[in-house]
Amino acid sequence: MMNRRQLLCAGAAGATLLGRIPIARAATYDLIIRGGRVIDPSVGLDAARDVAIAGGRIAAVEANVAGDAAATIDASGKLVAPGLIDIHTHAGRSKEGPPLALQDGVTGWVDAGSGGADNIDQIAAVARGAPQIGRALVNISRVGVVPGGELNDINRANVALAQGAIARNRDVVIGVKARLSQNVAGTNDLEALRRAQEAAAPFNLPVMIHIGQSYSPMRAILPLLKRGDIVTHMYAPTPNGILDDQGRLFPDVTAARRRGVLFDFGNGTLDHFDWATVERATKQGFWPDTISTDWNVMS
Ligand SMILES: [Zn+2]
Repeated sequence: MMNRRQLLCAGAAGATLLGRIPIARAATYDLIIRGGRVIDPSVGLDAARDVAIAGGRIAAVEANVAGDAAATIDASGKLVAPGLIDIHTHAGRSKEGPPLALQDGVTGWVDAGSGGADNIDQIAAVARGAPQIGRALVNISRVGVVPGGELNDINRANVALAQGAIARNRDVVIGVKARLSQNVAGTNDLEALRRAQEAAAPFNLPVMIHIGQSYSPMRAILPLLKRGDIVTHMYAPTPNGILDDQGRLFPDVTAARRRGVLFDFGNGTLDHFDWATVERATKQGFWPDTISTDWNVMS
């Protein structure tokens, strides 16, 4: 919203003014963002509003905020929203990632499995040094995401190593990731997911699975998920997505949602969704719980 240069300019102007006028009244607010379309689902708000900020906190959200401010932003024609939380990114891969994500309004991100036990410490360091809140899911494969498919060799899904990675990064690691597509896991999808659950269990953490083109069907995968676990790439194209050959939602999918499994969009760059699946699923009322991006510095 406001870059460093704008903040500096506003500060300099204020100092000049104070220098000339001995008895200057302090501004009511630090910042007023005027006239934007404010969308805040937490209070059911979608309307033109002013937003006033004082002391690093939202001080007023009103149609016309009275009082002055050290700085004002004209947001007419723009959206104004609380910071966005992106639950599936790869922002932890490099220290350049988080500042880039922040420019898109992402004030909280989760790196979903870029790192496994062997390299999660680097991801965690990026998260700790990020300008916004950063968290990570540890890949059940010790090597993290790799081009050839990190679970083709099931021995890389080492429960003890994953638990060690969680234990030494408890401030950052908030779950376990398992990518189950056949080009990642071969025929190991179910065993990899079982091991992900075993790694997460003592810490009471969720597991996120990446679906689409898996070896096993959803009816075999979903029973291995517990309440609070997340299915990302929910609209992945066939084979073995959430729809049957006639385009109907599998009953197992709606049953999983009913018992608290969450379904996440996970846009991605290549083949993680197709519009036919989106249209068929949403026509049956199956909308995402969360819309994540699968963001990375190349996308
Ligand atoms: Zn991803």
